[in-house]
Amino acid sequence: MYLLKYCILRNFREKTYPIIVTSNKNTISSDQVSVCPGCDLLLSKIQPTAHHTVVCPRCGYRLHRTKKNSIQTTLALAVTGLLLYLPANFYPLLTFDVMGTDATSSVFASTLSMFDQGQNLVGFIVVLTGFIFPLMTLSLLFWVSFGLLLGWKAGWIANFLRWYQHLTEWAMTDVYMIGIFITIIKMGHMAKIEYNIGFFCFLGLVMTTIAAQTAVDSNLFWKLIEGDRDDPEEKKIFLIDPGVLTGKEAGLVLCHTCHKTMPVTELAMEADPLCPRCGESMHQRKQESINRSWALVITAAILSVPANVLPIMEVEYFGNPDASTIMDGIIYFFQEGSYGIGAVILTASILVPMFKISGMILILLSIRFKWTAWLRHKSLMFRFIEFIGRWSMLDIFVIALLCTLVQFGYLSTISAAPAAFYFTGVVLCTMFAAISFDPRLLWDTVTTDSSSKETLHATP
Ligand SMILES: [Zn+2]
Ligand SMILES: [Zn+2]
Repeated sequence: MYLLKYCILRNFREKTYPIIVTSNKNTISSDQVSVCPGCDLLLSKIQPTAHHTVVCPRCGYRLHRTKKNSIQTTLALAVTGLLLYLPANFYPLLTFDVMGTDATSSVFASTLSMFDQGQNLVGFIVVLTGFIFPLMTLSLLFWVSFGLLLGWKAGWIANFLRWYQHLTEWAMTDVYMIGIFITIIKMGHMAKIEYNIGFFCFLGLVMTTIAAQTAVDSNLFWKLIEGDRDDPEEKKIFLIDPGVLTGKEAGLVLCHTCHKTMPVTELAMEADPLCPRCGESMHQRKQESINRSWALVITAAILSVPANVLPIMEVEYFGNPDASTIMDGIIYFFQEGSYGIGAVILTASILVPMFKISGMILILLSIRFKWTAWLRHKSLMFRFIEFIGRWSMLDIFVIALLCTLVQFGYLSTISAAPAAFYFTGVVLCTMFAAISFDPRLLWDTVTTDSSSKETLHATP
C-alpha cells in the first residue's frame, strides 16, 4: 500500500514558509514530490506510518488520512446502501393523521411534489439531489471498490471514481434526513405522526452512505488505479530550483480531481491536456476562476433578495390562505418555543447563505487587492464555505415533504410559493461559486510578490 507523508521542517507563520527537503543536487523525481491542492505549496513525499493524518503546514488542507481496509469497507457499505435504496425511497415514510384524515408519503413522492406545484426547476433539483445523485454515488462507489478489489484493469474505473468525486456533494440524503426531522417537529403538535418502514430504511440508507463516503481512501484508490497502467515515462527526473516554494514555480501541475502531480513540460504539447490518471482536463489554475466566482456570487446576492422577501410557502388552514416568508417560518418556531429547530432553520436558510456570499466576496476582494493578511484563516473559511454549501437545501426539502404530507383538503394544505425558486437559485449559485473558485489563487498573492520572495529566501 502506498501512502503519503509530508516533511514539515520549519515552524510556520504567514510569510515564513517551511523549507522543503530536496535530494542532492536539487534533482528530484515527480513522484517524490507533491503539491498542496489548497495553496500549491511544494511538499516532499515519504512513506508514512499507519493511522496518520497529514495536513498542509501552510494552509491547513487535509492532504491525507490513512484508512483501514478501505476497499472492502467501501464495498460492503455501498452494497448495503444499494439494498436499502429502493425500500428507503419507495416505501411510505410517514403518515400524518389530522382529525381522522390521513396522508402518507414516500421520499420519491415528496421529491416529485414540486412538479405538481408548478415549480419545475426546484422539482428537478430536488429529484436530482434527493433521489438520483444518491443512487449514482452509491453505484459508482460499488463498481470502483468492486473493480479494485478484483484487480480489474479497466479505464472506466478511473472515470467512475472521478464522477463519484464530483457528485458526492450533490447527493443530499443526509440533508434530506434532517429535513424529515424538522418536518416531524413542525407537524408534531398538529397531527398524529406514524413512522412507516420507509423512514427506518431511509435512516439506514443515510447512515450507510455517510459511512461509505468516509471509508473511501481516495489516495489509495487513485494509486491502485494508476498502478494498473503504470507508465515509466511519468517517472522522469527534472530539476527544481532551490528557491522554489510552489508547484507552479517548480513547473508542476496538479490535477484538480485526483491530485496527480505532473511536470508542466509534459502537458504543454497539447492544447487541452488531460490528466493521464483520471482524464480530467489539467490546468495550472482553474480557468476563469475569479470571473466565474464573481459572476455566481453576485447572481446569488441578487437572487437572495426575492428569496427572502417573497413568500416561500403557502398554508391554507380552514380555507384561509396564509403565505409565509423564510423569516416568518423562523419567527413561528421561536414563538412556539421550538428554539432549537428555529435556530437550525435560521442557520441553514439565512445565516449560511449570508456567510457564503459575504465570505466569497471577502476572498475575491483579497485577491483583487492583494490583501496578504490572514491567508490561512481565509483558506479555512473557504473550505468551510465549500462544506456547508449543500446544507442550505434543507428548507427546500422541508417544503417538498410538507407539500405531500399536508394535503388535508379543506382542513389544511401546504404548497410551495415563488421564493422557493429564488432560494434554490441562491443555493446553486453559491455552491457553483465555491466549485469554480481555486483557493491557490489566494496564496498566489504572496508567492508572486517579489519583495516577499526575498523574505522567503532569507528564511533559514
Ligand atoms: Zn496548503
Ligand atoms: Zn487527475
